[in-house]
Amino acid sequence: MAFERWTPRQDHTKQEELLLGRLRRTRKLFAFLRDHRQELFDHAFQEELESMYRDTGAGQDPVPPALLAMIVLLQSYLGVSDAEAVELTVVDLRWQMVLDRLSATTPACGQGTLGDFRARLIRTNMDRRLLERTVELARQTKSFDWKKLPKNLRVAIDSSPLLGAGRVEDTINLLGHAARKVVECAADLLGWTSDRTAREAGIPALLEASVKRAMDTEWSDPIAKVEALNTLVRQLDSLDAWLRRKLPEELGQPPLKGHLETLVQIRTQDLEPDPDGGGGGGTRIREGVAAERRVSIEDPEMRHGRKSKSKRFNGYKRHIATDLDTDLILACAVTPANRPEEEAAPILKADLERQGRRLAELHVDRGYIASPVVDDILADGGEVICKPWVPRNGKLFTKADFKINMRDRTITCPSGEVEHIDLGADVEFDPQTCARCRLRAKCTTAASGNGRTISIADDELLQHKLRKLMSTSRGRERLRERVAIEHRLAHLGRRQGTRARYRSTRKNLFDVRRAAALLNLEVIDRRIVESLPFLSAA
Ligand code: SF4
Repeated sequence: MAFERWTPRQDHTKQEELLLGRLRRTRKLFAFLRDHRQELFDHAFQEELESMYRDTGAGQDPVPPALLAMIVLLQSYLGVSDAEAVELTVVDLRWQMVLDRLSATTPACGQGTLGDFRARLIRTNMDRRLLERTVELARQTKSFDWKKLPKNLRVAIDSSPLLGAGRVEDTINLLGHAARKVVECAADLLGWTSDRTAREAGIPALLEASVKRAMDTEWSDPIAKVEALNTLVRQLDSLDAWLRRKLPEELGQPPLKGHLETLVQIRTQDLEPDPDGGGGGGTRIREGVAAERRVSIEDPEMRHGRKSKSKRFNGYKRHIATDLDTDLILACAVTPANRPEEEAAPILKADLERQGRRLAELHVDRGYIASPVVDDILADGGEVICKPWVPRNGKLFTKADFKINMRDRTITCPSGEVEHIDLGADVEFDPQTCARCRLRAKCTTAASGNGRTISIADDELLQHKLRKLMSTSRGRERLRERVAIEHRLAHLGRRQGTRARYRSTRKNLFDVRRAAALLNLEVIDRRIVESLPFLSAA
């Protein structure tokens, strides 16, 4: 599809001068985007964006993709919906100035065009290029003195919670919600109303807006709750049997197939046979939580996660990799909240490698230390900076009270006894020596005939180095460098909000990358302003 290239004017009109003067006080990024739009969307990048339309695009408005990309950025900057973004292109002077449409009386694009553009960005991974482009722009604007910066990358990785956009429901409501989707879909296929379909299918629990209201039960009474659950399960069985008779062919095809699979998923993950069900056949809510428990019908990918031992959340984790020397965010990843941090590290590393710089130093918290990326960096001669695990053992001697010699592969206890160690294995001190030891009461509560044991980790060598690092002032200073990424995550949270704008991991990754791109542009803007006195002095 042929596009007219976006070639916004460079010189300022009087109206723009006036607007820019006001925007230097607040919402400064509008001014930055006005003055750097041509560098950000240079011809090469515009060509890349246009390549997203090579497959198809017939019937779409021929809006330059670079203009749409700018709208996508402005949308994130103000946190507005697609409908608002489209309106703002015609009613907000700041948007019009950035988009080079100050005299326009019609929107820059339709809502459908904007949604289609976002889908293409995601499909072609061009949202990653948008983020990379901000890093390239930082190099081009010379706002950083790259010659003085280290040749290799010093990167910090960390994550923060992103609450899911889907509604989180308890088991009864999840079952009701999933069943309602099935019934609505069947009603559509049959050309019936949902109420008629629910009645015919034998699931009257769906005749009210809320399943709990329809079942009219005292939900705080455990016995009444079990009875109500079993009534609902019987109605779900009735729905299943009715669909097999009424729509046997549609059962195996979308969209009905997908809705039924969701209902089966909820039943499987949340229900189990009740051993006290009286004669068998009873059902109860599962004890404990299934590992990959779905918590929302609307967003199938969001999960339960933990901020800490006591704080839980539902949704995703947003991970970023930040250049410690420039403050620029270089890569982003999003994972369901239940996934361990270490899973995001290879994704971030792959994106960093695309930028052609060697990763020489990685600053992480302990959640990422088990990632294979850590081994890769160490094998490549790089450094990993992380707080070591702190050994705990109540009031008894901890592992820290034992001297580990990694070169000799030995461990020496507080009483001077020496044992050989193997990585990833427990070492036990001689039981007879421990039995005679005057320090035994302070060392171990092992049963008679057993000596003190110490676990030697697979990554003991790294932990040993980290403990040594932590023991020096310079080392602790290096560990504190990671604070910079906590600030970046706080900025990202303010820009993007704490709740996800979209449903699904991939769409939220797009949103995180977009917010990160904006933060990078703000960093560049700040650096340019900071460098101005030096430039004028020169
Ligand atoms: S109890 Fe055993 S391991 Fe502990 S200090 Fe005594 S000899 Fe060493």
